[in-house]
Order: sequence, then C-alpha cells, then structure tokens
Amino acid sequence: MDLVGEDLDALITLGFQADPWRRNLRRLYAEARARVQRPVALAAAEGLVRAVKPGSTVVITAGFVTPFWFPRGENDGPPGGAVLAHALQTALEARVVFLAEEPITPVIRAACDAAGLASFEWKAARRIPLSVAVGSFPVDEAVAERRATELLDELGPVALVATEKCGRNAKGVYHTGYGFDISADTAKIDHLFDAARRQEILTIGVGDLGNEIGMGGIVEPVRDTVPNGRVCQCPCGGGIATVTEVDVPIPAATCDWGLYAVAAAVSALTGRPDALLPGEMLPRIVEACVAAGSRDGVTMRPLARIDGMPMSVHTALLEMLRTLVQVRQRRTPLQEFRKVNPHLPTD
Ligand SMILES: [Zn+2]
Repeated sequence: MDLVGEDLDALITLGFQADPWRRNLRRLYAEARARVQRPVALAAAEGLVRAVKPGSTVVITAGFVTPFWFPRGENDGPPGGAVLAHALQTALEARVVFLAEEPITPVIRAACDAAGLASFEWKAARRIPLSVAVGSFPVDEAVAERRATELLDELGPVALVATEKCGRNAKGVYHTGYGFDISADTAKIDHLFDAARRQEILTIGVGDLGNEIGMGGIVEPVRDTVPNGRVCQCPCGGGIATVTEVDVPIPAATCDWGLYAVAAAVSALTGRPDALLPGEMLPRIVEACVAAGSRDGVTMRPLARIDGMPMSVHTALLEMLRTLVQVRQRRTPLQEFRKVNPHLPTD
C-alpha cells in the first residue's frame, strides 16, 4: 500500500496550473510529508479507517465565500467532499455531516444529491441513519467558538475534514488568494478544528495555496513564494498564510484532487472498489454545483470547470486514481497461477 500511497500523492501534486508560483506546491508537499512521515492521502485514509465504526460521524467542511465574486462559493471543494462522503458511507458506514457558510449549503446538497447521496437538512438527517446532513456554521467569532464546543458534544465526530476552507492567519484574519479580507463572510470553523485537536479527534485538511485550514505550520513556502503570502492587501498586513493546523495536511494541485485520493485510498484499504465514484460522475456533480450557484475559481464564471481546468482533466484524474488502486490490488495472471501451483520453480 505504501507504493500506492506514493503514487496517489504524485498524481494529486502534478502542476497543471500556469502561475509560476504554483511550483511552491512541491515545497508545501515536502513540508507536509516530513510532518506526517507517510504518503499523506494514504495517512489520512488510514486514520479514517481506524477511527470510523458503523454509524460514526465524520464532519466535512468545504466552501469559500466572497460576496462579490463567489456569493455561493467556488466549484472546488464540494465535489471532493461528496466523493469522500460516498466512500465513507459505502466502505465504512459513516454518517457524514457537512458544515459550511449558509450560502454554500445549497451547493453542497446539490453535489451530494448528484453523487447519489441523499442529503437532508440538519434536523431531518438526525432521524435517518447513514444520511448526509448539511448544516451551516456561524460567521460570528464568539458564536462560532461556542458552537464548536456544542457541536463536538452533540455530534461526537471521530474525524474532521476540511477542503478548500479558508483558515485564519496569525492575526485572526481570513483572506482570499488575492490577499483581501473575507473575515466578515467566512465561517469561523477553525474553532471546531482547534477544539477537536485538543480532544485528539482526527483532523485532515486539504489546501492548494496556503490560506486553507490544514496548511498551518507548513506555510513557510507560501510566505516565500506566493503573492500576498507574507503581506496581504488588507490593513492587517499579516499575509494570507493560515495558522490553523491539522493532524494530516494534504497539499494538492486542486483541493478536490486531495479528497479524491483519500477516497481512493479508503476504497483500497477496505477492499471496496464500489466506494470510489467513477470519473464519469464528476461532470454531473460539478454541473449541479454550478446550477446551485457556485462558480469556477479561476475564470470566476458559472462554468463546469474546477480551478480553470475543464472537466475532462478532473474526470481523467479520478479515473487514474481509481485504476491505480484497483490494479495494485489485483493479482496478475502469473501470481494467480503460482498460487494454485505452489511447487513450480520460481526462476
Ligand atoms: Zn490581511
């Protein structure tokens, strides 16, 4: 499995984006790897497989709201969340709770429904086992801090997963990649991650720039190379690099890819190929997100693209991850032959 883990990480850190500073992904990955001491997507999946028992709750958070450009968030985030939720439900019988800013919740529900996961509003979902619940998390700092403690008691999650979720910087300010302050519209879900870490609940975070929950503690490359990394465009002057840390940080070229890889590893570890959605499902998931109001993060348009890349790239990437884990689990015809003929000479 370690070799599969290496290849999963290699695929999700391929640089398909034009900006030269995107090369910092390699450095971000090296930092994450040094910290986890394992292939990172595999480490996240191993943690989930260990922690989740049938009926356990896993919280997934996704969504990046900027009122002008992305009033209902961007396309990167919810599709990966839906793919992972599908894997966790199918392979581990987990109950999945999504938390995001209120305007993002219709997008997440659309992603889940398109992925074939019935999603419900908060209260309805609590009565249905193995449902996907979608709820909002407060934007107000003090309310969020209180709600974080309440939610950990109420849900008793065994793991928290953040993907493309803005995290605070050292001055407590939340920034877009362009360095602007979006604190007024961002759910302060960092409090939930901090509280979970204090209780030794597994935390996983995927980032593709350095301002996302999970990239805290591995962001020196972000400060060095990303525009606005060290100094932002807002009066705080603290730069966009987040300080919110997790147990398993996963740097990926696009956040969705990070969770596809975790889902692929869950599928491999549990021997459940049906847990990983096929690539051909992705266009329909992303189209559903766009119809619910999200936009492509690079072109800022309501197009079925993720981070500027067409769906053919994402579909192919998911298929490559899928084939990788399936091929490695299959015995070759020669291995099968040797199994039933153990006394054959080996040379
Ligand atoms: Zn700032």
